[in-house]
Amino acid sequence: MAIVEQEVAPHAHNGAAAVNGAAGADISVENPATGGIAGSVPDLDAAAVAKMAKRARAAQPQWEAFGFEGRARILSRAQKWLIDNAERVIATIVSETGKTYEDAEFAEIAYAANAFGFWAKNAPEYLADERVKSAAVMLKGKKLILRYRPLGLVGVIGPWNYPLTNSFGDCIPALAAGNSVILKPSEVTPLTSLLLAEGLRECGLPDGVFQVATGRGPTGAALIEHVDMIMFTGSTRTGRKVAAAAAERLIPCSLELGGKDPMIVLSDADLERAANIAVYYSMQNAGQTCISIERVYVEAPVYDEFIGKVTEKMRKLRVGAPKGPGSVDVGAITFPPQMDTISEHVTDAVDKGARVLVGGKKVENVSGRFYEPTLLVDVDHTMKIMTEETFGPTLPIMKIADAEEGVRLANESPYGLGASVFTRDTERGEQIARRLEAGAANVNDALVNYTALELPMGGAKASGLGSRHGAGGIRKYCSQQAIVITPKLALKREVHMFPYKARTTRMISRLFKVLYGRGKRD
Ligand code: NAD
Repeated sequence: MAIVEQEVAPHAHNGAAAVNGAAGADISVENPATGGIAGSVPDLDAAAVAKMAKRARAAQPQWEAFGFEGRARILSRAQKWLIDNAERVIATIVSETGKTYEDAEFAEIAYAANAFGFWAKNAPEYLADERVKSAAVMLKGKKLILRYRPLGLVGVIGPWNYPLTNSFGDCIPALAAGNSVILKPSEVTPLTSLLLAEGLRECGLPDGVFQVATGRGPTGAALIEHVDMIMFTGSTRTGRKVAAAAAERLIPCSLELGGKDPMIVLSDADLERAANIAVYYSMQNAGQTCISIERVYVEAPVYDEFIGKVTEKMRKLRVGAPKGPGSVDVGAITFPPQMDTISEHVTDAVDKGARVLVGGKKVENVSGRFYEPTLLVDVDHTMKIMTEETFGPTLPIMKIADAEEGVRLANESPYGLGASVFTRDTERGEQIARRLEAGAANVNDALVNYTALELPMGGAKASGLGSRHGAGGIRKYCSQQAIVITPKLALKREVHMFPYKARTTRMISRLFKVLYGRGKRD
């Protein structure tokens, strides 16, 4: 398969312009693997976003009235549409990210296809009315209901590393809950979102329920001004701005931010498996995954053997422009400034005494943007490569004395997205996992928690606020409403009401003593 560039360009532009109306100057979308142009989209201004929000609000009640079944029908059609159009979607993702065919298929198509079905099936259960029993004396005989109601209009802002999974993916539960959604994809990778909007239209989604607001940061900022909730995925730096803007408007926000995921390898680990996982989950998507393995800590007795295995595996990786399935292992660096960050972190480490065992520099004399898979040893926490998010194909490995040191160093980070520990003693592994300050911790694996849509996925510390997936991953797109129903044969006047009488008050005081005044029961 050759990289599709021109094919997606007219689509994207026409789709966006037709849907959105007024647009500012165009944004040209680059193909990072070839240096060519993959397409162009409008850079929408605040007025265009306001217009989209109006359309979205007008469309939402009808969508909510579809009910779970009606919405599930559309989402199930979209699941099939995605598989039927997988080659076209993969070509679009590859054209704007420069990632490999497999990175697009395994981590994007597979995710979204699963998510369409998951939310269609589980939304009714996660958002079903709950009958609640209360201990409150005044509520005896009444019907108490907790109800989830869609917020109305949800804004989703996404990053460039996973245009389908991390931009569009968060729209699926918001739609399943009955909201209208406006997605502001990254200006670096907007084409996939536009293609998915086209797919949803083909599947019968009513006009205005899902729209794509292409543009840069200011378009995202404008979106926050109009929505009832903002779901943001991106850097911690921008996440803070988004949280502040949401606070000004008193709307909820959910933030999925940066990470510096540690991996701990203990002496009794299956070293072959640990080495394969270290290499795969640090290099997959060229290391541009929020939950990539970014740093490794290995117990001294197995350090040399582990380094030997990783070195051998990393030397075999093929890096370059993807030309269909199986053509390369490591794709391009999608976002130009990311190349500077990667180079800066490697240079800083080497300046401070690190040794490069594999790679260590940009791939020269190619039209695309690539960085060599890079293995670093003799690293420590004075180096950026061990403390700041690198977001590239780098694997720094540090020797540790024991598990305690591993846990301490793993937790010595402002981030807390994912983490992993490798040991044949899974009970001990679980105990260590529980001590890691991360939203997700894997024992003898990494990243796979992300594929369990039943489990919450969210960052601790500066890695985020709230979570996606699981019941919380759809309830966040709803407000909770408490409904209390008093039966028709109720007292005409409740005992506590006017006029106050000393006798009644004493009776109520006695009741309180019986209910609450007996102290702790053993
Ligand atoms: P970024 O923060 O630069 O941009 C993210 C989005 O925010 C873009 O669409 C951008 O246009 C928009 N934006 C910029 N300024 C804005 C503003 N003031 N108001 C509203 N929107 C604004 O992030 P990026 O470089 O695109 O993505 C890489 C980062 O995303 C990495 O840190 C990575 O770890 C993180 N990420 C996290 C997860 C997760 O699930 N935790 C997943 C993927 C990526």
